[in-house]
Amino acid sequence: SGLLYVVATPIGNLADLTERARRILSEVDLIAAEDTRETLRLLNHCGISASLIAYHDHNETATAPRLLAALEEGRDVALVSDAGTPLISDPGYSLVAAARERGLTVVPVPGASAAICALSAAGLPSDRFLFLGFPPRTRSQRQSWLEAVIAEPGTLILYESGKRAGETLADIGAVLGENRRVVLARELTKRFETFLFGSPHELAQRLETDPEQRLGELVILVEGRREAVEGDRAEQERVLRILGETLP
Ligand code: SAM
Repeated sequence: SGLLYVVATPIGNLADLTERARRILSEVDLIAAEDTRETLRLLNHCGISASLIAYHDHNETATAPRLLAALEEGRDVALVSDAGTPLISDPGYSLVAAARERGLTVVPVPGASAAICALSAAGLPSDRFLFLGFPPRTRSQRQSWLEAVIAEPGTLILYESGKRAGETLADIGAVLGENRRVVLARELTKRFETFLFGSPHELAQRLETDPEQRLGELVILVEGRREAVEGDRAEQERVLRILGETLP
């Protein structure tokens, strides 16, 4: 049977397409793309002609069987999304899971992913992190979604659009607290790549007063609970000590 390649594409800077990705995209029989127009732009840029098939959230169930049939007939398929690594807040999971269930060979072709790209340069602890993807759209859902990670000691990584980032920062401040360091990584690998640093409130203010900072897409990184936990423990010990001294 054929090989299913999961191919990462650039998140802005076309020079970030790897040599291996370029070769595989030019050699496979079929490219399954989240948005065929978007992928055509990339392929045209590289001078690659290929047969494309749309594979996105809305036709996954209909298209997956066709792709699996192609693989079982011995054809090689590459899965790509609009930007970055497929399956990471992008379509592809059910195809890869189904391919694995059938014992097909799935080959990762690594490259850019906005989460790792942002983490690598933000300056927040990188030894442990939790990728959360996109927050829910409504405030109450977003707040309970954040409540579930209050105790997480690793750096939190969220995806968000510039338009909604202000509201999400407000909820981060309200639920996780204003004493967390936050980094906004915007337009990564592009001309106007920007890193902003501050508390949730400071960064929300910055977005409010500087509309430029609301353009495009961004990654929000939030310091984990590490220090707060140590602080809590110190506080507990202090209280126990006082109790020990005052109680008979
Ligand atoms: N699969 C992609 C990846 O591996 O990063 C993510 C796709 S997801 C639909 C798009 C989100 O990724 C954006 O809303 C933003 O949060 C983030 N993102 C993608 N490209 C970015 C960039 N150049 N700069 C900052 N964030 C980016």
